[in-house]
Amino acid sequence: MKTLDEIAAQLQAYDPQSMTVSGVQTFLSQLVSVVRDTETVPLIDAMDRVLAQDLVSPVSVPPHDNSAMDGYAFDGSQLTPLDPHTPLRLAVVGTALAGKAWQGQLQPGQCIKIMTGAILPPGLDTVVPQELVHQSESGIEVAAGLVKPGDNRRLCGEDLALGKPALRRGDLLTPARLGLAASVGVTSLVVVRRLRVAYFSTGDEILSSGEVPREGAVYDSNRYTVLGLLRRLGCEVIDMGVVRDDPDLLEAAFTQGAVQADAIITSGGVSVGEADFTKVMMKRLGDVAFWRIAMRPGRPMAVGRIFRSETDRNPVSGTGAADPGLSRSGGAVVFGLPGNPVAVMVTFLAFVRPALLQMMGANPPEEPLLMAHSQESIRKKPGRTEYQRGLVWTAADGSLQCRTTGNQGSGVLSSMVRANALILLQHDQANVAPGDLVTVWPLHHLV
Ligand code: AMP
Ligand code: MG
Repeated sequence: MKTLDEIAAQLQAYDPQSMTVSGVQTFLSQLVSVVRDTETVPLIDAMDRVLAQDLVSPVSVPPHDNSAMDGYAFDGSQLTPLDPHTPLRLAVVGTALAGKAWQGQLQPGQCIKIMTGAILPPGLDTVVPQELVHQSESGIEVAAGLVKPGDNRRLCGEDLALGKPALRRGDLLTPARLGLAASVGVTSLVVVRRLRVAYFSTGDEILSSGEVPREGAVYDSNRYTVLGLLRRLGCEVIDMGVVRDDPDLLEAAFTQGAVQADAIITSGGVSVGEADFTKVMMKRLGDVAFWRIAMRPGRPMAVGRIFRSETDRNPVSGTGAADPGLSRSGGAVVFGLPGNPVAVMVTFLAFVRPALLQMMGANPPEEPLLMAHSQESIRKKPGRTEYQRGLVWTAADGSLQCRTTGNQGSGVLSSMVRANALILLQHDQANVAPGDLVTVWPLHHLV
């Protein structure tokens, strides 16, 4: 585990007052460590968890050569000697059903009727679909050139080979992966334990839902967006509500979060010139950096660790705090996000989500970044990364098009609600003209 100073010393041109988006991502990848604890869960409960070890296939899938079609199976070597005009005539001498193998022996000139998924008996390697054959009194006729030897045969092990990894450690368990695991016959999987993440909103002007409105106060929306984003990541969330700008309350909240969780996320109180105690408390209770990031929305952010004990503050090299339930040492990772509701979501997606996935031992997510034509001009200054709320769609001519969803103020959640993507304007990019290609990051599975 490295201190913030040690990480900073290894980075080129580290400047907390002027961080780039990629610089923040690199820094965070050095800061967080992977949770090692695992548990075994029934397959049905493994959705959205992270696989902790390779799943080596104990079987071949499919377990036998079988038919890909309803049709007639025969020895395909009989096709080759034929002249191109004479059909192959075959007598039908039996039937193979899915789950019920046909046991007999075939002579040349014979075939069996076979159903999709039925085992291909030894020596039979070719299936002609039933709708392509000509039925005759004595059997079937396969027109010349209709099929080649080996057609419509699914090979034993073509999906998964015996002894090879079917799934990899670090795979996020999606419905497709759960199905694949089921197809090799396993009933449970070894997964990384859920990451425990504590969250609280800060600010004297923030009302908890249900509180009576008062002048100058706003309802806490960040708690709902962040807790929702965390649940989508499969985290166990510790909801600590709204914490007032009071040193004792903030100290208690950070301390409780550090004891209970692998990571603490807060919103609000980290802006430059902020008069409240959030920053003071973070500094006092841990090792925290306060950054200004060249991005929009989401400029201020605090990142580091909140210590649980003196051992965290002064780690003896090679050892860590002895927390039986929490497998990391050096304190809980803390992400002090800005207060503005859209800035919270964007900084979460750009920074917190990849860092938490790394902590869970998940393989880096494959975000599908697409290129779309902007339908409008967008003002953009080089020297910062911008995430504009946008809509992306396929036009009638098949091209991808995008436009923004209106007011891009960093507190305007309604334009986030209308968005199905973030339009990602890169650090060095300048103004966008109508028709220009821009990068879009589809969000439907995230927000
Ligand atoms: P701050 O980063 O604390 O200066 O907050 C920036 C803006 O975000 C202010 O207008 C706050 O009122 C607003 N804000 C802060 N926290 C929340 C929250 N939890 N829910 C909704 N708005 C918030
Ligand atoms: Mg504030």
